[in-house]
Amino acid sequence: MSRIVRFGAGSVGVLDGGSVRDLSSLVDPPLRGTPYAINDLIARWDDVAEQVAGVAASAPAISVAEAGLLAPITHPRNLFAAPLNYRPHVAEMVGSRHAPTGLKAHHSAGNLGFFLKAPGSIIGPGEAVELPPLPGRSFHHEIELGVVIGREARGVSIDEALDHVFGYLCLLDITMRTEGEQQEERVTRKSFQTFTPLGPWIVTADEIDDPDGLDLQLWVGDELRQSANTRDLIVGVAQLISDASHVLTLSPGDIYATGTPDGVGPIVPGDTIRAVVEQVGEVEVAVVQRAW
Ligand code: MN
Repeated sequence: MSRIVRFGAGSVGVLDGGSVRDLSSLVDPPLRGTPYAINDLIARWDDVAEQVAGVAASAPAISVAEAGLLAPITHPRNLFAAPLNYRPHVAEMVGSRHAPTGLKAHHSAGNLGFFLKAPGSIIGPGEAVELPPLPGRSFHHEIELGVVIGREARGVSIDEALDHVFGYLCLLDITMRTEGEQQEERVTRKSFQTFTPLGPWIVTADEIDDPDGLDLQLWVGDELRQSANTRDLIVGVAQLISDASHVLTLSPGDIYATGTPDGVGPIVPGDTIRAVVEQVGEVEVAVVQRAW
């Protein structure tokens, strides 16, 4: 039904053609304008969905450019990520100099679990990926379908899992690659500030027929680096959610990065990354050298 955005100084809204309509009046008053407004709107969605059209129609139309879109979610309680969830990506990593010690093809059995990225790594439209000054390391792009949790999920079955999805977004899991004796923790390598570009909006789940059937493509400059379809996920979206929900309770606004296909490769300052997830969205970010 909708493309949900954050904009301005922290308002929540819905896209209406080329305009944004403010939905902040649907948020619990103490949370309006705070980073948690979007989590609250998502948590209330079942109760307020019927009011969205009316509130949007009575709100002034603000052009997208004037509104200034922000990362649609900056404070998920959990930012989950799937490692090695496409077989061709498993193959390229097993065979590469970046392969962590002990990386084996057992990942293809589909028993992979999740890791976490620090939510502080999230950025939104108009922000740049900043590469830290660490000689000898390389930095790779990873395009991923991001899933946004709607209804709280605890111990849900695979059949029930998609009922707990609020929507989807385009996500980049920027990653520092190590070699040889360099063995920083994966969570660290993927959590540098700016390493999780998101957005530019959340597409609500009713707009997506099948999350396990979406094309993903990523360019660096004019070069197509990654091109795949989520049907090739080793563990599909419903099972990722079900499995995680048996570890801990998933909360409204949680994000799950579902894994990247093959074709990952280095980015350097001066690059521009453009990533498209079919029916979901498109993210474009510049890559710069971190200034601190
Ligand atoms: Mn990833």
